[in-house]
Formats: sequence, C-alpha cells, structure tokens
Amino acid sequence: MSEWQSILKEKSIASLEQLAERFGRDVIDVEALKPAFDNFQMRITPAALEQIKEVGDPFWQQYVPTVEELDIRDGMIDSLEEDADSPVPNITHRYPDRALFLVSPVCASYCRFCTRRRKVGDPEKIPLNQFDSAFEYLREHTEIRDVIMSGGDPMMLSDRRLEYFFQKLREIPHIEIIRIGSRITSHLPERITPEFCEMVQKYHPVFMNTHFNHPEELTPPVVAALDRLAKAGMPLGCQTVLLRGVNDDPRVMMELMHRLLKARVRPYYIYMADQVAGGEHFRTTVQKGLEIVKALRGWTSGLAVPHFVIDAPGGGGKVPLLPEYVEEINDDEVIFRNYTGERYVYKQPRVAAAAACGSEIGTTPDIVPIEVGKKKTAQRRRRAAATARNR
Ligand code: SF4
Repeated sequence: MSEWQSILKEKSIASLEQLAERFGRDVIDVEALKPAFDNFQMRITPAALEQIKEVGDPFWQQYVPTVEELDIRDGMIDSLEEDADSPVPNITHRYPDRALFLVSPVCASYCRFCTRRRKVGDPEKIPLNQFDSAFEYLREHTEIRDVIMSGGDPMMLSDRRLEYFFQKLREIPHIEIIRIGSRITSHLPERITPEFCEMVQKYHPVFMNTHFNHPEELTPPVVAALDRLAKAGMPLGCQTVLLRGVNDDPRVMMELMHRLLKARVRPYYIYMADQVAGGEHFRTTVQKGLEIVKALRGWTSGLAVPHFVIDAPGGGGKVPLLPEYVEEINDDEVIFRNYTGERYVYKQPRVAAAAACGSEIGTTPDIVPIEVGKKKTAQRRRRAAATARNR
C-alpha cells in the first residue's frame, strides 16, 4: 500500500463516533446528526479535517452530513440527466467534441452538495469492469477530441490503473486532450507523488480541473501539491461551486481567485449549485452569483474571473451568465456601462457605407464614454477659448 493510501485508510474519519471524538461531544449534537449518518456515507481526510476550525464553519458544512439532506423539495436525483446522455456504461456524451468518462466510483472525502451523489461511493453504479464498451465508443466517435476522466475522483486510482487509462486513450488518434476532474489536491495532497508526476508526462497534454470552494482550502501542503502538478506540465484549472454559507460572498470569492492564480491554477468556472436532491440547502440565488461576478469583473485581472454558469437542469449543458452591461443595442451603436457603472457608446461599423466605398471596415471603432466624452469636449472648448484670448 502506498503512503497516500495508508493516510486515506488509517487517518480519515468515516463515522459519527469518530467525528464526536475528534471535535468533542460537548459541541456536537450526536442525536441530531444520527438520522443523517444512518442515511449517508461520510469520509473526511486529514487534509480536509485540518481545514475545519469549528463546528458549522464552511469546511464542516461541505463534508459533514446533516438532516437537511433528507429534506427534498425541488431537488432531482440526476439533476443534469447525465444518464439520459449515456450511450454506454461510464460514458456521458452531451457536447459535440468531448465526452465524460467515469473511471472511479469513490472520492477521498465526500462533498455534501455533490451532483453525482446518486452514484459516488457506490461501485455498483460506476462499475469498474465495463470499460470495453466505453473505449469502443470513444474509438468509434471520431468527433470526440477531449475526454474528461471523472467519477468519483480518478486520482483515487493507483498509478498503474491511471496509466492503463492514459495508454488506452492515447491509442485513439482523434483524442487530443485528456482532462482529469479531481478534488484530490484539496482532500489528499499526498496523492500527488513524484511517481505520478513523472508518469503523467508521458501522456500529455493532460489537464487537471481542480475543485476549490474557499481560499483557506489552499493550505501550504495543497499549494505544494499544485506546484508539483504544474512542474509536471499539467495545465491547471479550477471549478468552484457557489454554496450558501460557504463562499456566497464577493470578498471570499475574490480571495479564492487570487490564491488560485498564485498557485498557478486558472479559475475556470463558478457553478450555481445544481438542483440536486439532498443538496438544496446549499443553493443560493442567481442574483448572488451575478453580484459576485460583477464584483470580480474589471475590479481584478481577467485571469481571476471564471465563467459563471448554470448547468441547465434536464441536460441542457452549461449556460454562461453575465451581469447586465448592455443598455441598448441597435444598428448604429451599442450603449453599455463599464465595471464602475459609467455609460459608454460603441459605434457599430458602417457596413453599408463601407461596402459602397470599400474603406471603412477595419478602421478603429469610436468608443466614447458619454459623460466623460461630454466633459472632454467642454474642456477642449474652454482650452480653445483660452488659447484664442491669449493670442
Ligand atoms: S470530490 Fe467531486 S465527485 Fe467527489 S464527492 Fe466531491 S464533488 Fe462529488
């Protein structure tokens, strides 16, 4: 057994008893939590446990089951209808040129808001012995150029098993990109071993989509693990889920994005929490998400601004959402506000006139801030008048 496997096995906690022992029975209401533990599985790794400072904090909420998970209102079991887009076991093929490949049924820690909670943790639902049809499907579908290995967490597989997948995928000429969707850097940074980092380089380009929801998840061991991946040439992205009580605050999100970039991780998506049964208490409003994006866009580097998306319930795919910047758009001009709220006008190209004289297309467009533009014109007039008086 490798070191990371023994850490996972021997030092994680997985029961209410262990939880009460670790945090103290005086602060944990064991009776209140019991129905949740009777229904749901929990595992929290040492790295995730380190993040929890007190009962009920943003890290506790992400991993400790509560009775709220039993309260199902709008939630759906398979909210993204992934199973409907699954032509063969373990494959979801929804978008034209990419496919999701479920290769692992388990995760190091189990997130309470998980979209795939109907399957994750249950090896019968993500079978590990039916990959032939998945590889055959990927071979036959030459339009697929990007495969996202997911689960569960693919990094829970041994290096030998991961290498098997990399080799099989690299035998398919039209697959250009391999991506690994993994929260392991936050849950079990010890998993990012020198051996893995050496092995993965044989199969590049292999990207990793990490998952961080709060700036304090980027602890020194986690940042060191990200550094090892970056040095192994893996482009790193991050998916963040907007969670009520965890990160539904523009300052928290700004700090998270900055810390990710410092660790060479490009923020990629902020997702609205899915409408998944059992995770409804984590959902906040779309307005809150837009408020967060508005607080990022323009106020910090574009590198730190991920796409804000709703993964459409019912299988519609990811739909990007933007705060309203455009006030009016017509054939002559677009009137919009910038990040500080100032109004500007962008002149549309004079296509008809350009076609007539063949000269206008490609000229620098006029972008004139309405108020600022007026102010500048008035200043210019005053200066011209003063110059005329002084002559
Ligand atoms: S790591 Fe990902 S797949 Fe695993 S429980 Fe968390 S959200 Fe779900």
